[in-house]
Amino acid sequence: MAIFVFADQQKGAFKKASFETLYYASQLAKQQQQEVVAVVMGEMNSATSLQDLGRYGARRVLHVDGNWLNDFDARLYARILKQILNQQEASLCVLPHDFNGRALAPYLAAQWGATLLTGVTSLPDAQGCFQKQVFSGKAIAWIKPNAARQVITLLPNTFTPQPADQQAEVAQWQPLQEEAQQRRIRVKEVQTTQGRVPLSEASIIVSGGRGLKGPENWGMIEQLADVLGAATACSRPVADAGWRPHHEHVGQTGLTVRPNLYIAIGISGAIQHLAGVNGSKYIVVINKDPEAPFFQAADYGIVGDAFEVVPRLIEAIKKYKGIS
Ligand SMILES: Cc1cc2nc3c(=O)[nH]c(=O)nc-3n(C[C@H](O)[C@H](O)[C@H](O)COP(=O)(O)OP(=O)(O)OC[C@H]3O[C@@H](n4cnc5c(N)ncnc54)[C@H](O)[C@@H]3O)c2cc1C
Repeated sequence: MAIFVFADQQKGAFKKASFETLYYASQLAKQQQQEVVAVVMGEMNSATSLQDLGRYGARRVLHVDGNWLNDFDARLYARILKQILNQQEASLCVLPHDFNGRALAPYLAAQWGATLLTGVTSLPDAQGCFQKQVFSGKAIAWIKPNAARQVITLLPNTFTPQPADQQAEVAQWQPLQEEAQQRRIRVKEVQTTQGRVPLSEASIIVSGGRGLKGPENWGMIEQLADVLGAATACSRPVADAGWRPHHEHVGQTGLTVRPNLYIAIGISGAIQHLAGVNGSKYIVVINKDPEAPFFQAADYGIVGDAFEVVPRLIEAIKKYKGIS
């Protein structure tokens, strides 16, 4: 028996969340004396990067090659994954709880007739219960999936991979011919953010809220992010108002992030925002209102006007790092 993992890649590069998910599955496989099989969709530049998935715990890699699979399509990927899981008589498939994983997992669970457990943060305990955050991160639930087939998504930044010196066996997997006709999404243009770490992979995040008054004031957020090598994020009203793109919105209805350091500037700390960030290792809050709820979740807090504090912080960090 094997545990299957959807290893997501873009233009031949695997996402950090894929390595974490493989590593997590390998720990799960150890508990259950199984092996891990990674499933990779779309063209790859080199076979070595497929073999290298062995470093993160994959014993085997099934590569579903073809340029018609290069653009992520949740319905199509779910159909192909289902064929693989059925053919291999699998009972468990693990995906990253990122944008693509969150879109794909429900389709897969529905098509494959599996139970779906999203955003787990632990290996199962002796009773087979997985932990996950509930009520916007205010509580932890222990959930035991009962169905014979299970789809699980792993919250990013929960497990840190420990790469090992081993390679995976790579095999090609041919989907049914008609699958190529089932593509429903055609990507016309891809715009990538240049020069900054993707939010889901960042270990430092500088995030701004409505306290910044308008998009014209985001220069200092970007500057602070640049000196720290951080990604930028925002609260939901900021994205709703069009001050920042929606992919930067974190929280209950946005992205869940778990960086080492989350700096919240001019954000009140509503429960829906905290739900997406309270797994961060350290939280620093800058807010002019000493009663702002975010201070209760903060490790460090600065009560002050962001327009005075942030430029001084940038200068201090530049001086510390020797940047002119
Ligand atoms: C179903 C539902 C889902 C939601 N999902 C999300 C979600 O995913 N993510 C999310 O963020 N929100 C979400 N919200 C909205 C959430 O409830 C809050 O309204 C939102 O987080 C508030 O955003 P904010 O803190 O940027 O703005 P505000 O609440 O307006 O807070 C602005 C803060 O800036 C401070 N401030 C003002 N001026 C300055 C200054 N000069 N210097 C320093 N500080 C200053 C103020 O003291 C205040 O604390 C959701 C709401 C609902 C109902």
